[in-house]
Amino acid sequence: MNLQHIRNATLLVEYAGKKFLIDPMLAEKGAYPPFPNSPRQDQNNPLVNLPTSIDHIIQDIDVVIVTHLHLDHWDDAAKESLPKEIKIFSQNEEDAIEIRNAGFKNVDVLQEDTVFEGIQLIKTKGEHGRGEILKAAGLVCGIVFKHVTEKTLYVAGDTVWYDAVQEVIDTHDPEIIVVNAGDNQFDEGGSLVMGKDDVYHMYKAAPNAKIIAVHMEAVNHWTLSRDELKNFANEKEFSSTVLVPDDGESYSF
Ligand SMILES: [Zn+2]
Repeated sequence: MNLQHIRNATLLVEYAGKKFLIDPMLAEKGAYPPFPNSPRQDQNNPLVNLPTSIDHIIQDIDVVIVTHLHLDHWDDAAKESLPKEIKIFSQNEEDAIEIRNAGFKNVDVLQEDTVFEGIQLIKTKGEHGRGEILKAAGLVCGIVFKHVTEKTLYVAGDTVWYDAVQEVIDTHDPEIIVVNAGDNQFDEGGSLVMGKDDVYHMYKAAPNAKIIAVHMEAVNHWTLSRDELKNFANEKEFSSTVLVPDDGESYSF
């Protein structure tokens, strides 16, 4: 497989000969106001430009997976750029309806037993925060990719560490794990995605996996920087298992 981290949660995955685009936020730097009641109210989103052109990103895509509809995962620029016939998987029927309302004609809901072109796509649970904030944050999902010719890939999505994430590790034993680890937060309510301790939990649960930390420093409410995560991984002696890509960086496994 080849994984290219684009920006925030936007990821290109080439897996068993098919090209997946996950969570496309394709706007230019500064196109949207900051998320309210959160750090950096003087900075618009996204905080940085795409590392490459939209045409390059969407070229030859076979399928799009949208883990949820928050702006930093599915935005107007993505809706305008993607061909309306492209295959899209959403996490549930509510999201599928919204995506269809934006003009897309080939939207299906991801299930726990979805097979796309011989590739198993297993919808996994996620929790977009802890406690009270969960209601406001809404539902999310992750995906496990499996194919006989490939390593098992787990894209955890916008989730904190909790028991269902442990269950995914126990059930599927993924060798490659992508975590959203910017520890994004509003002024109140705590972490919306993984922070450094969550990433450490992930490492403890899957010590032999490669963990790729994304969703960092791209939208205004981040609180964990790439450097801080790298330093933490050094201190805790798991830096050899954690990759912290720059925008545009890619890996083959
Ligand atoms: Zn997000």
